[in-house]
Amino acid sequence: MKLSIVIPVYNERQNIEPLAKELFAVLDPKDEVIFIDDGSTDGSYEALKEIARKRPNVVVAGFRRNYGKSAALMEGFSRAKGSIVITMDADLQDDPKEIPKFVAKLNEGFDLVSGWKFSRQDPFTRRFPSRVFNWLTRALTHIPLHDANCGFKAYTKEAAKAVKIQGELHRYIPSLLAWQGFTMAEIKINHRRRLHGTSKFGTNRLVRGFLDLLTVKFLTTYGRRPLHFFGPIGLVMFVVGGAISAILAYDRLVLGQAIGGRPLLLLGVLLLVLGVQFFSLGFIGELISRATEEKRELK
Ligand code: UDP
Ligand code: MG
Repeated sequence: MKLSIVIPVYNERQNIEPLAKELFAVLDPKDEVIFIDDGSTDGSYEALKEIARKRPNVVVAGFRRNYGKSAALMEGFSRAKGSIVITMDADLQDDPKEIPKFVAKLNEGFDLVSGWKFSRQDPFTRRFPSRVFNWLTRALTHIPLHDANCGFKAYTKEAAKAVKIQGELHRYIPSLLAWQGFTMAEIKINHRRRLHGTSKFGTNRLVRGFLDLLTVKFLTTYGRRPLHFFGPIGLVMFVVGGAISAILAYDRLVLGQAIGGRPLLLLGVLLLVLGVQFFSLGFIGELISRATEEKRELK
């Protein structure tokens, strides 16, 4: 079976040659290696081109600027021709010797096999938040993985082609695939310390990762029926706002009291307006959802 190895690269100049060497020692000549240079500014692209010049089974594509890991992976998936697609990081932390294990597990009948950096070689300040995130992701999106964001993964061709990510959603590929009905398993992998270059994701990954988790949860729950999310909120606000306004109208019209100085007036009007807004948001969501076709995955 032909393998396509997809590797996103962003400023990994010193890692490229050793990585290529390790890869070629493991791969079959019929397998292909697809490097996507994500707008590197350190000469990574030139180094990749140099490797491709000598090896016919190496494909190199380069973005003109940095679009992010998700975009690089998408570009790689669209170019992959193998029946199994394997993604790995370019930073030498993933060990190419693990590739046969991924293939063996995938061939047991799964659509996705995700690596589990069991003895992760990163600082505690990275390992701990990662644990919390994985726990949250498991709880919210029901996937059977300990290390969902591991860059080392194997996909069937069909699963790889079904991945649709933008921004930094690559962290949640398993959640999105599971929602589309793909099956998955994980294997423990050897993880190595980063020797050259620096990590591309800083502490802002925590905030962004959390927002993305909310996006994924929303997409996979209400993505095709947004009014079911916005409607109930709008309804509660509108009803409470309407009740408050009715009481104030009674006070003013029947009892003849002045209501201009009552804080409740402000709240009533606010809830009415917000209620209408939430409803409108839901309806606009329904319009957008109808205008874009849902891609349904067949067996
Ligand atoms: N990467 C990329 N584009 C980016 C950031 C990262 O293609 O904008 C690549 C990077 O070169 C590496 C992989 O994605 O091959 C994972 O990045 P990194 O090792 O910095 O992430 P970490 O392992 O620290 O989470
Ligand atoms: Mg890394």
